[in-house]
Amino acid sequence: MGAPTSLDDFERYPLLFGPSPVHRLDRLTAHLGGAAVWAKREDCNSGIAFGGNKTRKLEYLVADAIAQGCDTLVSIGGVQSNHTRQVAAVAARAGLKCVLVQESWVDWPDAVYDKVGNILISRLAGAEVRLVKAGFGIGFKESWEQALDEIRERGGKPYAIPAGASDHRLGGLGFARWAAEVAVQERELGVHFDTIIVCSVTGSTQAGMIAGFAALEEDRPRRILGIDGSAKPTETRDQIARIARNTASLLGVERELDVELDERYHAGIYGIPDEQTLDAMKLAARTEGMVTDPVYEGKSMAGLIDLVSRKEIPAGSTVLYAHLGGQPALNGYSALFS
Ligand code: PLP
Repeated sequence: MGAPTSLDDFERYPLLFGPSPVHRLDRLTAHLGGAAVWAKREDCNSGIAFGGNKTRKLEYLVADAIAQGCDTLVSIGGVQSNHTRQVAAVAARAGLKCVLVQESWVDWPDAVYDKVGNILISRLAGAEVRLVKAGFGIGFKESWEQALDEIRERGGKPYAIPAGASDHRLGGLGFARWAAEVAVQERELGVHFDTIIVCSVTGSTQAGMIAGFAALEEDRPRRILGIDGSAKPTETRDQIARIARNTASLLGVERELDVELDERYHAGIYGIPDEQTLDAMKLAARTEGMVTDPVYEGKSMAGLIDLVSRKEIPAGSTVLYAHLGGQPALNGYSALFS
């Protein structure tokens, strides 16, 4: 058999309900008075611990872990990481063990920050949760290497999943598949999304979309606009570009790829919202009942609201907001709403 050149050539361990829902946001659209706004909902893509964008990526990594005979998923993130919560629950679903390194990525004073929301669910799902002192960073970490070594010493076979399931050979495939799913849903709904808004931090969500749409060789132009949530946009942009290129070449696509990352809405720091983030979260909840979090989706929603209402995204556009999940973290931010 030759090298895989299509998504169907990669093993996938199904974790989602099926295609995630796509629907109009009519009241938000009317409020903003410009482009038509729709959402595709990774926050309700799975019955496994609330799902989210990582669950979609993990379909490919878990298949690889099982093929390699691994028995323990090992990953890393902040204390309120959505990613590690999804790894914990997916490990349970696949009958694997799970070790999580949780770093202090966000200096947030809420007394229950390391007890509720995502971390609570990871503990509930049976993961071994290790709290360590280390700041925000999307790269490889010593504490994570140490956890991998310890599992090997115990006689286990770990499968290493980097932060956000991103900097991994298969990290972009989940959202390459998302792109193909969007194209099918557009045909069914009779709509074309000329602009996609997506929050980026560790990068493989946006990178997968870029590679996936490139593989479709579409005739109509489509803008995939990342909204940076890392407040380290140079690193995030580099990582998106690298993962997009790698994913594209896995899919047999060799052409030049564009990466567009807007740096205006990250509120100056990873993990903490500003007034614009909070206003965006309130507007989405009060027009559509759509819940976003202060770390990721509130920031991409702030970008969408600003760009559409100021017509930087033209009024004739049809915009798809990629809702990537993250609501459980809200419980760690109760002070913002009391
Ligand atoms: N939105 C949510 C809810 C997330 O948990 C993440 C994870 O980092 C992102 C957006 C960003 O996705 P990525 O890390 O693939 O850039």
